[in-house]
Amino acid sequence: MIKLHDKYFKPFVSAKEIDNVLERLVNEIAKDVGDEIPVFIGILNGSFMLTSDFVKKYPKPCEVTFIKLASYEGLKSTEDIQRLIGITQDLTDRTVIILEDIIDTGNTLKEVHRIFKNEKVKSLKIATLFYKPEAYKKDFKLHYVGIEIPDKFIVGYGLDYDGLGRNLPEVYQIKETQHMTNLVLFGPPGAGKGTQAEFLKEKYNLVHISTGDVFRFNMKNETALGTLAKSYIEKGQLVPDQVTIDMLNAEVEKNAQANGFIFDGFPRTNAQAQALDKLMDSKDSQINAMIALEVDDEVLVKRLLERGKTSGRKDDADETVIRNRIKVYYDETAILKDYFAAQDKYFGVDGVGSIEDITERLSAVINKL
Ligand code: AMP
Repeated sequence: MIKLHDKYFKPFVSAKEIDNVLERLVNEIAKDVGDEIPVFIGILNGSFMLTSDFVKKYPKPCEVTFIKLASYEGLKSTEDIQRLIGITQDLTDRTVIILEDIIDTGNTLKEVHRIFKNEKVKSLKIATLFYKPEAYKKDFKLHYVGIEIPDKFIVGYGLDYDGLGRNLPEVYQIKETQHMTNLVLFGPPGAGKGTQAEFLKEKYNLVHISTGDVFRFNMKNETALGTLAKSYIEKGQLVPDQVTIDMLNAEVEKNAQANGFIFDGFPRTNAQAQALDKLMDSKDSQINAMIALEVDDEVLVKRLLERGKTSGRKDDADETVIRNRIKVYYDETAILKDYFAAQDKYFGVDGVGSIEDITERLSAVINKL
C-alpha cells in the first residue's frame, strides 16, 4: 500500500504485466503498420513513460513526438481540456498513432480528434494502455487497447494524483475504504468484551458489532433469525457459521462509512475468521489486532452468574449452560489465538481489575498499532 497526499492506494498492475501488455501492443501495431514509418504521438504528461517504453520496443524505424494536454484536476477527469503544446510538425500523409496512458471519459480523445480535424494525415489510430469502458462516453474508435480496467482512480506509470505518483514503475488503484482500524475483542464469555467495547468505541470512534447482541435483538423481536439462533444460544452452543457470517456481513454493510469496527464475539471459529478476512479484503482493509481479555474460568463463572441476576439472559442464569459456553470457547474458539498470532496480530491483556484499568491496558495496545 502507498500513500500519496491524503489518499491510500493498493498495488494494481505490476511493472511486469505492463511490460507484457506493451509487448503485445507493439507487435500488433508493428504488424498493421508494415513498412511505413509511423509517427507515434504521446499525450503529455501521462504517457511519457509509456511512450518511452513503447518506442524502445518498436522493432522498426519510427518517429516520436508529443502533444501536451491537461485534463485532470485532483481525482476528477474534467470536461475542460487545455491544449498546452499542439502539433509541431507537418503530418501530411503520415500514419499517426496516438499513445495514450489511459482513456476514461474520452474528453482528451475528443480534443485529440479536434486537433487532427484539419491535418491531412493518412491515418490516425488510437492506442491506449488502460481503458475504462464504464466511464467512456464517446464514440471514437479505440484501435489498440492494452488493459480494460474498472472505473476507479489509478496512479503510477505516468499517471498522477495531484502531481505525485508519475514516477512509479507500476500502477496502483485507490483503496475503497481509505483507512480503517478494525479490532477483534477476544476472550471467553464474561471476560468483559461488551463492557470494554462500549468505552473503546467512543474513544476511537469505531462501530461496535456484538454478534451476541444482534442475536438477542433478533430473539426479542422474534425474527426468523432470532428463532433459529435461540435454540443454539439457550444451550450455550454456537449458532451455525453461515448464519452468523451472513448476519455479520450485513451489519458491516449497514455501516459502510465507519472508521473501523470492534468485533465482539466474532469470529468464534476458523470459518468465521476466514470469512472476516474475506470481508475486510473486499473493503481493501484488514483486521489490525485481536485483543484478548484473559480471565480465569472460576472468575468468569462467578461474573456471569452475577450478571444473570440482572441481565435477563437465560444463558447467564444456569451454571451448566455457563460452563458449556466456556467449554465451547476452549474447544472451538480459543484456536483462533493461533490464527491471529501467526499474523503477529494477537495481544493478550489481563482482564482482571477495575473497568478503567482494563480500558487503559487495551488502549495501550491500540495506541501502538
Ligand atoms: P455472547 O453475547 O458473545 O456471549 O454470545 C451469546 C451467544 O450467541 C453465544 O453463546 C452463541 O450461542 C451465540 N453467538 C454469538 N456470537 C456468535 C458467533 N460468532 N458464532 C456463533 N454463535 C455466536
